[in-house]
Amino acid sequence: MKMEKYNVKFKKKLGQNFLKDKRVVKRIVDCTNISANSLVIEVGPGGAILTRELALISKNVLAYEIDNDLEEELYKKLDGFTNVDIIFQDFLSADISSDIKNYKYDNLYFVSNVPYYITTPIILKLIDSGIHFDNIVMMVQKEVGDRFCSLPGSREYGSISVLLNYYYDIKKEFFVSKKEFIPEPKVDSVVVSFKEKENKLKVKNQDFFETIVRDSFQFKRKNIKNNLKKYDLNIVEKVLNKYGYDLNIRAESLDVCVFVELSNLLWK
Ligand code: SAM
Repeated sequence: MKMEKYNVKFKKKLGQNFLKDKRVVKRIVDCTNISANSLVIEVGPGGAILTRELALISKNVLAYEIDNDLEEELYKKLDGFTNVDIIFQDFLSADISSDIKNYKYDNLYFVSNVPYYITTPIILKLIDSGIHFDNIVMMVQKEVGDRFCSLPGSREYGSISVLLNYYYDIKKEFFVSKKEFIPEPKVDSVVVSFKEKENKLKVKNQDFFETIVRDSFQFKRKNIKNNLKKYDLNIVEKVLNKYGYDLNIRAESLDVCVFVELSNLLWK
């Protein structure tokens, strides 16, 4: 199979490692149920290898690309595609809710081979936007994907694991070798998908819940008593006792339901 060629100067600091084999791209797209009436949001179209594939099966693709220098290459590669809009902007400062108002669609997807240096901010932005995505599929660094899917007690378990497990059912889809990219990065990748949980536990205040989770993991080696010392420790202790723990436990051992209860009882 012919490998994709790019006529660009790759910028390492923008995470520009482009896919070169369409077979990988097709596998990413196969992880979704995109249909002819779907809108797809993509971050970082790069040289459009994924964008084109998405545009072939969806109604519209809305892509955000930070690098204006890619404009010529992108428009060349997307010649003939009338259903792709590219906004040359930092995705992190985009107003997605307002941008998607310009489209009519039945389902909304987020599909991206994300720039790895902002993987977590991208996910937090999607969560905080409150927008319902039918499915989120993204390629991330392998170690980061492991963290997303990790369980309490494992080394990789951190605040992002708790938050993601609260909002989504997460699935590791497939491994992608670093050899699949041009230029070749130092790390391997994995494609993960997120589907919004149907029966999420109720939190009284989403921002406060996220703050409690982050504070609980602030110093990885410290226990909950230290990391949450600015909160009412009597309440914290009561919740922990209920689950068979005491204040000496570390956040990395606690399931998402403990954080939900902590945040609901500490919220004033
Ligand atoms: N989608 C292409 C592919 O799969 O070959 C390129 C993926 S490459 C890993 C990441 C892309 O994200 C690059 O095109 C980079 O310029 C772009 N990018 C980096 N930071 C960005 C940001 N803050 N907002 C939007 N795009 C960004």
